Amino acid sequence: MALIQISEPGQSSAEQKHHLAAGIDLGTTNSLVATVRDGQPETLADADGHHLLPSAVQYSPDASPLTGRAAKDKSSVDPQNTILSVKRLMGRGMADIEKSNDRLSYQFINEDSTVPRIKTAGGNVSPIEVSAEILTALKKRAEKELGDELEGVVVTVPAYFDDAQRQATKDAAKLAGLNILRLLNEPTAAAIAYGLESQSEGVYAIYDFGGGTFDISILRLNRGVFEVLATAGDSALGGDDLDHVITDWLIESSGLNKEIGQNQYRELWHQACQAKERLSQQDVVELSVKIEAAPVWQGTLSRTQLNELIDPLIRKTLAPCRRALRDAGVTVEDIDEIVMVGGSTRAPRVRELVGEFYGKNPLVSIDPDRIVALGAAIQADILIGNKSHEDILLLDVIPLSLGIETMGGLVEKVIRRNTTIPITRAQEFTTFKDGQTAMSVHVLQGERELVVDCRSLAKFELHDIPPMVAGAARIRVTFQVDADGLLSVTAQETTTHAESHVEVKPSYGLEDAEIERMLKDSISHASEDVEARNVREQQVEADRVLFALDAALQSDGNTLLTKEELSKIADASSVLRQARNESNAATIKKAIKDLDKETMEFAARRMDKSIHKALTGHSVTEFNEEN
Ligand code: ADP
Ligand code: MG
Repeated sequence: MALIQISEPGQSSAEQKHHLAAGIDLGTTNSLVATVRDGQPETLADADGHHLLPSAVQYSPDASPLTGRAAKDKSSVDPQNTILSVKRLMGRGMADIEKSNDRLSYQFINEDSTVPRIKTAGGNVSPIEVSAEILTALKKRAEKELGDELEGVVVTVPAYFDDAQRQATKDAAKLAGLNILRLLNEPTAAAIAYGLESQSEGVYAIYDFGGGTFDISILRLNRGVFEVLATAGDSALGGDDLDHVITDWLIESSGLNKEIGQNQYRELWHQACQAKERLSQQDVVELSVKIEAAPVWQGTLSRTQLNELIDPLIRKTLAPCRRALRDAGVTVEDIDEIVMVGGSTRAPRVRELVGEFYGKNPLVSIDPDRIVALGAAIQADILIGNKSHEDILLLDVIPLSLGIETMGGLVEKVIRRNTTIPITRAQEFTTFKDGQTAMSVHVLQGERELVVDCRSLAKFELHDIPPMVAGAARIRVTFQVDADGLLSVTAQETTTHAESHVEVKPSYGLEDAEIERMLKDSISHASEDVEARNVREQQVEADRVLFALDAALQSDGNTLLTKEELSKIADASSVLRQARNESNAATIKKAIKDLDKETMEFAARRMDKSIHKALTGHSVTEFNEEN
């Protein structure tokens, strides 16, 4: 937050120092940098007048890496050393990369199983380092254009980025020597670019179809405050996928063998991509494919044909659109505007289908390639303090619930999904056993009731809990999600203040498809989950009762109970022990109740004994006076 600026009477605001700030759209396919000049946001061009910097980096043995257009041009001749779409690898583990269907032409070094490194002629590089090269190129461009160093930047990320992906983005910025003012969700940046925050209120759908990802967000503007009501999307669906469909069509139509090499595939892909982009303006394009030992294939692709090819992929974006509406609790009629973001929304077919879905024409007046960078620049200008009184507050939501493991392998949700961030929420937990001095805290993400069905984010231990009887210790677990979506969890024992803390930067990212699956599972398994929870809860209760009974029998069983009473209790407890292992909540509950009945008298005698013991040496009046 900017400090309040005090200007002397008579001093015009124009004389105040203008801080250099920029907004950076670090895209999968293209990246941009923008700044606010004379009150207007504008993207900055390179020496050749290009605004879009292809998100490509080419490494070579002795020279420093090439970025942007120069690197992208090398992608078909040097695919192994040219890194494209590195954003897809950010914050991902090797396992996620192997699972994904991305057609990646480079080799990974798997020396450390969690952080992937790409083998290049210039050495082994991590995705963070590759992103840092792109950011460095944009930083240089901005500083050359503006004539001084940037004081701060706002970098945008997809709304769906998880902790690890956000952290990786921040690390890349740091590596590039940038001061990150904050990360901003791409849809929120787009809404700001259209100045939607100056309206009095509204509900907006931000449809972002880029090169590698699809994101849909529902924002609500309320008294100048943007709240992200819901987000959904598909991080493995973008213009690249349209390109692949067209490339495959091209291979088939030209009669080329499917087993073509990487280089030729890239060449064809390049041609397919160009055809797609040109068909946004014209009705037909001509194509030609070189085939060894055969004449060149020549053919055409019409917009109608293109539309048929890409239609299924565009329709795939509508399911997340539907889900976002449902999660936001709104209907299509509630949507006041649809903002189109990302190069792929240039395709007329995309505009058509989106318009049909919402029953309204989407906003397309701002260049969909630049809109995110423009919004980020406006936000950076505010955060750096050039515009302190027109501050806007931006709220985002968490995509999946966050919670901790409790006894019986159950998950207690601490922050529910779609809660707006930043947020801090605390919950109290207690010990299970008498004299327990340590507790393990297991942080989970997901909607299901059982630990095994959720995603494990972190585990840590709280020590130095003073020994007390079970259930007496109070451990406060605080979840804090900051404005960038990063989670930190603190556990504190409330009497001694013993504390333990963890920042969650999971090494494995989460695919949107996985989020979707987790959400679907939570719905389809809802009733079974409730039953499973009931069973687990009863099992935990059974364990607690049996544990306490064993302890009581050990100390007082022989002195306070007759042989007959002892055997009755033993019978009831063995019934419970058996019931505990069968997965029926009602049976366990009944067995607990029966054992309870059988031990009532024993408990009363123990109580008498302990009161008697406590009273020894004290007069009754002494206690009365105290009360
Ligand atoms: P990202 O945010 O993933 O970096 P962009 O918003 O820059 O992506 O969009 C890049 C995608 O937009 C590419 O797949 C590109 O082919 C596509 N694209 C660019 N121009 C057009 C166009 N005129 N018609 C259709 N697609 C286009
Ligand atoms: Mg984008």
